[in-house]
Amino acid sequence: MDTSLEEQLIELYQALETPPGENRCGSCRTCCTAAGLSRQNVTDLELAVLGEAGPDFARYAARERRADGSFVHPECPNLGPQGCRVYAIRPFSCRVFGHYRASGTTLPVECVYLGKDHEFPAPDYYRAVPGALRLRELSRDFQLRRVPGGQTSGSPSGGLGLNLDDPWDRALELVGRGHLPELPDENEGESLFAAYVRALVAGERGEHGEALRHYQRVLSECPERHDLMTFAGFHAFQLGRMDQAEAFWLQSLRLFAGNPLTFSFLGYLYSHRQLWQMAADFFGAAFELEPGQPLYNQRQAEALARIRLCSKQEEPESS
Ligand code: SF4
Ligand code: SF4
Repeated sequence: MDTSLEEQLIELYQALETPPGENRCGSCRTCCTAAGLSRQNVTDLELAVLGEAGPDFARYAARERRADGSFVHPECPNLGPQGCRVYAIRPFSCRVFGHYRASGTTLPVECVYLGKDHEFPAPDYYRAVPGALRLRELSRDFQLRRVPGGQTSGSPSGGLGLNLDDPWDRALELVGRGHLPELPDENEGESLFAAYVRALVAGERGEHGEALRHYQRVLSECPERHDLMTFAGFHAFQLGRMDQAEAFWLQSLRLFAGNPLTFSFLGYLYSHRQLWQMAADFFGAAFELEPGQPLYNQRQAEALARIRLCSKQEEPESS
């Protein structure tokens, strides 16, 4: 996992700790049971920080049930006889529970914070709960570093849901609906996610130089993201930087040889160079991976036809 994000999350956790001796929480532990809360949000970065305790906590937080309807983990697997076994790295939701409460939700009747909590309108979560926005930024960058297993990227927001107060989430949402958003002025030290959104938006605008620059920034910190490498290669190709495009695509295939798009892009590049056999091979590989895409098959056939034409032209004329 990314050490600096892990460290930054722990710094955030520490900043949220109540001063020693001021933990006025009761001992009921209701909020550490599946029946005590209806749901509990936890991000992948927080699960990574929990280490070995992460997977079971994720099942508990999801309130996973068996076939008979009973909870897989009726109480948090981190709860021991002395209380929370992962107290120093317990997730954010455990930290803010009881202190902040969205309107329309209630605390358990036995909770010592009942009547003393800060109530906020649910849509104001990121404004009202200290540290929520920071957790979101860190978790989003963590998600961006994760390598998609298949040919398409996972949710770029990391399953965090959209926060439409956030300009980057708003922009992402608009791009998803086919609009071109205005973005804030570029700032040094912007999050990786901001660079990712800038790359997407520039790509949609056909600003290939900008798109390439932002993808390069993302890739400098996420060198395993073969899918983004494929997009970076596309923009390099559009700029006429054939060698750079080829390098991106070949590296993308070294990392993940299962994306038909990358194979087809190389097919186009070798067609452009009139390296017809290579073009046919790459289009053929793309078609094998995605037989439902007739264009790859068609391009392969065209490349093979070029090879036949070339060999005919090279044949010596018979006397
Ligand atoms: S991680 Fe700790 S504080 Fe959070 S629910 Fe589990 S036992 Fe309770
Ligand atoms: S329900 Fe309230 S009092 Fe009980 S452990 Fe949770 S935060 Fe503390």
